[in-house]
Amino acid sequence: MNGTGDCWTEQERLEKVDPEMYDLIRKEKNRQRKGLELIASENFASRAVLEPLSSCLNNKYSEGQPGQRYYGGNEYIDQIELLCQKRALQLYGLDPEKWGVNVQPLSGSPANFAVYTGVVGPHGRIMGLDLPDGGHLSHGFMTSSRKVSATSVFFESFPYKLDPATGLIDYDKLAETARLFHPQIIIAGISCYSRHLDYKRFKEIADENDAYLLADMAHISGLVAAGVIPSPFEHCDIVTTTTHKTLRGARSGMIFFRKGVRKVLKNGTEVKYDLEKRINEAVFPGLQGGPHNHQIAAVAVALREANTPAFKTYQQQVLVNAKVMSKRFQEKGFTVVSGGTDTHLILVDLRPQGLDGARAEKVLEEIGVACNKNTCPGDKSALKPSGLRFGSPALTSRNLKATDFEQVVDFIIEGINLTKEVASSCGPTLKEFRAKLETDEAVRAKIQAVKGRVEAFAEKFPMPGFDEL
Ligand SMILES: *Cc1c(COP(=O)(O)O)cnc(C)c1O
Repeated sequence: MNGTGDCWTEQERLEKVDPEMYDLIRKEKNRQRKGLELIASENFASRAVLEPLSSCLNNKYSEGQPGQRYYGGNEYIDQIELLCQKRALQLYGLDPEKWGVNVQPLSGSPANFAVYTGVVGPHGRIMGLDLPDGGHLSHGFMTSSRKVSATSVFFESFPYKLDPATGLIDYDKLAETARLFHPQIIIAGISCYSRHLDYKRFKEIADENDAYLLADMAHISGLVAAGVIPSPFEHCDIVTTTTHKTLRGARSGMIFFRKGVRKVLKNGTEVKYDLEKRINEAVFPGLQGGPHNHQIAAVAVALREANTPAFKTYQQQVLVNAKVMSKRFQEKGFTVVSGGTDTHLILVDLRPQGLDGARAEKVLEEIGVACNKNTCPGDKSALKPSGLRFGSPALTSRNLKATDFEQVVDFIIEGINLTKEVASSCGPTLKEFRAKLETDEAVRAKIQAVKGRVEAFAEKFPMPGFDEL
C-alpha cells in the first residue's frame, strides 16, 4: 500500500527495482525487531503514520504558507497543512487567537535555528542548558577550542549548568549569569535530564532580562500532550519540538509561538507579540525551501493518534516503565543521577562501578541493547562520558510492561558486568578494550549467549508499523 489505498504491482515493488536497498532495509527492520531499543529519543511510529511518508505527497512543491503559495496545484496540500496546524493547537489545548504554529521545519534542530534567526538575528544572545549537562547541541554547544554547533557560530551562546551535587538545574546561578549576559532567548529544554523543568522560574528569569522564554520540548512532547507531566505552554513565549520522540510521529519539527499582547507597559501601552511573521519568514524563505508535505501529513496523523485515551494510557506506562528501570538499577546497587526520574528517561552514572559510558555502550550494543553513553554532572570531559542514558518510550510502544522492564534492566546489568570483566583483563585504552571484545573467544561466546536470550525475549513483543518480517 502507498498511502492512497493503491497496491503496487510486483514489478514496481522495491524488492524488484532495487534488491540491494530492499535487503538493507529488511536487515534494519530485523535489527529493530530483535533488539531492545532504549535510546531515549527514539520510538516506533504506527503503520498509519508511516503510510503518508511513502505517498504521492512526496512529489509536490508548496513553498509559502497555506493559501499563499509560490506554486499552483496546492488545493489539497493546503488542507493537509491546515489540518496539521489545527490538530497541533488542539492537542496542546491552545487557543488559535493566542497561539500559532509552523509545521514546516524539517526537524528539531532546524526549528530551533529558525527561531534564533527570526527572533534575535545574527549574534543574538542565547542561553541554554550546556550539552554535557543534558542540553541539546542546537542550544549552542561549544568547547574552549571549538564552536561546535552552528548556533554558537552565528549567535552568541552562554550555557547554564547543573548543580553537580544534586544533578539538578542550578536556577540561582542561571539567574545570576543572565543578569550579566542579558540573553534575548532563554531555552528551557533537555535531551538528558530526568526531572520536571520549573517553567515558572525560567519565566521569571526571562522576564527580569526582557528575554523570550523558549521551551524546546523535543524529548517530552508526547508526555506533555498526554498531560502526564507539566506543560510549558502556560509560561513560555515560544515552544519548539520534534515530532518523532515521545510524540511517536514522523521525523519532523514544529514551532509554536504566542500572538496578541506580550505585556502592558507602566504607562498603559500594550506591547504586542510579533513572533508569527518573524518565525514564519525565518522558516521560509529564510532557511528552507519546499515543505516536506509527506512529513507534514504523517505528523498530522500522529497528532490525531496522540489525541486519544489510548495515547494517554501509553504515556502513563512510559512513566511507570522509566520509574521501574530507575528503581531496579538502584536496588542492584547502581547510581541513578538525581536519584530517579519524573519522565521517560534515566541516566545511570557508572563512575562508582569504575567504568565509563563508551565501553558499556559498546558491550550493550553487542548483546542487542541500544542506548547512549552520556556525560554525568561533574564529568571533566564531554569526550569521556561516564554514564548511560536509557529511555522507555520505544519499548513501551512494543507493549512492554513493568515486569518486562525489570527483565530488560537485568539484561543491561549482565552487559555491564561483562564490560567490567573485559575491562579488568585488558590494557587501559579504548582500543585495547575493543580489541579484546572483538577477538577474545571466551568473551565472544559469552556475548553470543546473552544476545541469544535478548533476541528471544525481544521477539515476543509486537512491533508497531511492521506487517511482515
Ligand atoms: C532531539 C532534539 C533536538 C533535535 O532534533 P533533530 O530532529 O535531531 O534535529 C532538538 N532539541 C532537543 C532538546 C532534542 O532533544
